[in-house]
Amino acid sequence: MTLDAERRTTLALHGGTPVRTAPWPSWPPPLDDAQRELVTAVLESGRWGATQGGSACADLTAAFARRSGVAYGVAVGNATLGLFAALRGLGVGPGDEVIVPAYTFVASATAVLLAGATPVIADVDPVDLHLSASAAEAAVTPRTAAIMPVHLAGSPADMDALNAVAARHGLAVVEDAAQAHGATYRGRPIGGLGDAGVYSFQSSKAMTAGEGGLIVCRDEAVHAAIWSVCNLGRTLDGAWYGHPNVGWNLRLTEIQAALLLPWLDRLDEEIDRRNAFAAAVERELAATRMPAGDEGGDPPVTVVPQPPGTTRDSRHLLMLRLQVPFDRSFLLAAMEAEGVPLDGGYPPLGTMPSLTEAGARAEPCPVAEAASREVLWVRQSMLMDDPTGAIHLAEALAKVLAA
Ligand SMILES: *Cc1c(COP(=O)(O)O)cnc(C)c1O
Repeated sequence: MTLDAERRTTLALHGGTPVRTAPWPSWPPPLDDAQRELVTAVLESGRWGATQGGSACADLTAAFARRSGVAYGVAVGNATLGLFAALRGLGVGPGDEVIVPAYTFVASATAVLLAGATPVIADVDPVDLHLSASAAEAAVTPRTAAIMPVHLAGSPADMDALNAVAARHGLAVVEDAAQAHGATYRGRPIGGLGDAGVYSFQSSKAMTAGEGGLIVCRDEAVHAAIWSVCNLGRTLDGAWYGHPNVGWNLRLTEIQAALLLPWLDRLDEEIDRRNAFAAAVERELAATRMPAGDEGGDPPVTVVPQPPGTTRDSRHLLMLRLQVPFDRSFLLAAMEAEGVPLDGGYPPLGTMPSLTEAGARAEPCPVAEAASREVLWVRQSMLMDDPTGAIHLAEALAKVLAA
């Protein structure tokens, strides 16, 4: 082997030449002029809070409700609190159980704890890794009050199947849409497919103001109840110092809303960009000769498929499944050294002592446990790259798996 060829096949971790040296796009993307103008106008107005007569929070809320196909919304400080407020507004509280998927961000479960209810952790579908309708149904007890489908990685949970379970057992449905701004299910926007849907604007999400969240819902009375939870127990047309309900101040600021409102005009373009990258990854993985796949059968690395009914995936993340034995921490370190850092993904919720000690109940979740070993994520910032970046991803994977 020539010295050059040797450098190319030697892992960067061991002093070889990295597959990629160019940086990936940063997240969030640079501010655009519309954001700069609106944020400046809000700052100069002095109306930084949503109760001072400004319109950014109200406009953002109306826009999200419209885009979710429903009439109502409430902007909140983050999605953890949004999920809590949605549950509480729907009457979920102490003594109730809420079914959550085992492969999701911890906040899906801790929001249930915050509402005083019990998270019941149910397994996910072996193909798409979203909450399994049959596992959810098997977890129903006389105390079950709600189901929380999570639109994981930007692809919609199979809402027809999950809504059918909810209807059979008289359960509320709260969609955790923290990762799925702009996704659609059977042609309909997510967020508006259950009783309430909750978006996040935390710094890693597809639209961000550093922090933030927004609840959307269809029903006027549900909206009034959720609004009251988020506004210190006031009622929509009640007095400032009238607090007929128990509630908290969970409001978003006008400054945050001013960062988010103009983003809606470029969200679809950004989703298209991430989808183009994801398609390129599927092409490259199929075209790149991976060391372990040569005996036939399943290719060693595949993109985790979308649930049935996905019509638009917002591609918050791209989940890859490795069907070959590999050392996780070595692979993550080696990929990072090659200039193609991947994310290790979630541990299964049911294995977190903090949750079970706080009273969460975990059903058997072998699928989520396998996913936590076999699945790695391509981050959103990487998905914003030119599709040629997918070549680097496939090359680096092939190189590291051959090592
Ligand atoms: C980010 C996230 C949350 C929590 O959102 P915050 O705004 O950070 O509170 C909840 N669920 C899922 C699936 C998430 O990805």
